Amino acid sequence: MPFTELQRQLDERTAQGLLRARRTVSTPQSPNLIVDGKACLSFCSNDYLGLACHPDIVAALQQGAVEYGAGAGAAHLVSGHFYSHEKLEHALASFVGKPRALLFSTGYMANIGVVQALVGRGDNIFADKLNHASLNDAMLLSRANVKRYRHNDMEQLSVMLSQSGKGRKLVCTDAVFSMEGDIAHLSGLQALCEQHDAWLLVDDAHGFGVLGEQGRGSLSHFALSSPRIIYMATLGKAAGVSGAFVAGEAVVIETLINAARSYVYTTATPPALSCALLESVRLIRSGDERRLRLQNLIAKLKCGLADLPWPLLDSNTAIQPLIIGKNQAVINLSLALKERGIWVAAIRPPTVPEGTARLRITLSASHTEAEVDRLIAVLHELAV
Ligand SMILES: *Cc1c(COP(=O)(O)O)cnc(C)c1O
Repeated sequence: MPFTELQRQLDERTAQGLLRARRTVSTPQSPNLIVDGKACLSFCSNDYLGLACHPDIVAALQQGAVEYGAGAGAAHLVSGHFYSHEKLEHALASFVGKPRALLFSTGYMANIGVVQALVGRGDNIFADKLNHASLNDAMLLSRANVKRYRHNDMEQLSVMLSQSGKGRKLVCTDAVFSMEGDIAHLSGLQALCEQHDAWLLVDDAHGFGVLGEQGRGSLSHFALSSPRIIYMATLGKAAGVSGAFVAGEAVVIETLINAARSYVYTTATPPALSCALLESVRLIRSGDERRLRLQNLIAKLKCGLADLPWPLLDSNTAIQPLIIGKNQAVINLSLALKERGIWVAAIRPPTVPEGTARLRITLSASHTEAEVDRLIAVLHELAV
C-alpha cells in the first residue's frame, strides 16, 4: 500500500526532528493568544504594526461585507473585479510610487504569476540563494534557466549576468529576507540590472508598511525608483489582512492581467477584504508612531539578547533570528518556551540551510516593553 510508504516518510521526518505540526489559536491575532486552550505570549506573527485586529479595519471589513456580500463570485477577468478592488489598486500604486498595481490573492500566487508571465524557456533568472520558497517555486514553474547567487553577493551576480546568454534577464530578490531579517542591497541590484538590461523583481513581503517613508516599503527606504523594478508586497503581514499586490509600469501590469496564470485562473478575493485593506493603507500611512514603537522594541530585544550563548543574526528589522544549530536543540528550546507560556517559531531545514535551525523571533508594535523583557528573561533562564 502507498500508505505505508507515506507513514515511513513521516516517521523519518520525526526521527530527524523535522515533523511539522500546527497549534490551534482561538483568540484574535495579537501578542496574547489562547493556543490549544492555554494562554501564551506570541513572538511569531508577521503582524508587525499590530493591525490584524485593529477596530477600524474590522469595521471596514464589516461594512464591506454589508456593501458587497461575502464572495467575489468569479475571477477578475470574468465578473469578479469590484469597485473596492479597483480603488485599492489605485491607492497601492500611488502609495508605493508606481504607475499601476494589480491585486493577487496571496503573495505566493503573485510571485508564481509574475515570474511565469515575464520569463519562459530560453530566458534567464538570477536569484539570491536565501529567497522565499514562493520565488524558488516560481522560477521552477517558469521553465527559464535559473542561476542562484550567494546571499547578497553582488560580485557573483555580476559575473553571472555578464556570462548569461540570449533571452530576457530577471533578477529576483526578497527585500527583507524572511528567515534572516537582513535587507537586500537593492541599490547595487538596481545598478547591475541597469548595466545588464535586466528586470528586477523585489519581494517586499516584510518591508511594506514597516520600512521607508510612511511605511511605503523598501524602495522608499533606499529612495529607488526605476521602471525596471517590479515591486511585489503582501497584504497579510504588516497590512494585517490578506492578499498581495504587484506594482510597476502599465505595460507590465497589462501583461500580468493577460498572462499571469495565477491571476487569470483564480477567483477574485472577497471585495470586502479590499475595503479592509483601504483602511489598512490609511493606518500604515499615518503609522509613524507604531513604526517608532516597533523600532524601540527591536533595539531593546537585540540589546537584551546580546550575551546569550546563541548568536542573533545581524538584523535591524522585526525579524530577529536566534541561531541554535541542531534541529532537535531548537525543538527542545521551543518546547521549553512553550511550557513557560511563550511561543516562538522553530525554523528548520529545508526552510533554512542545514545546521542553522533557529528561533525566529518576530516583534510587533503591539508588544509591550514588559512582554519583550519577559522573553529576554526566559531565554536567559533556558540558556544556563
Ligand atoms: C510570506 C511571504 C510570501 C508569501 O505571501 P503570502 O501572502 O503569505 O502567500 C512571499 N514572499 C515572502 C518573502 C514572504 O515572506
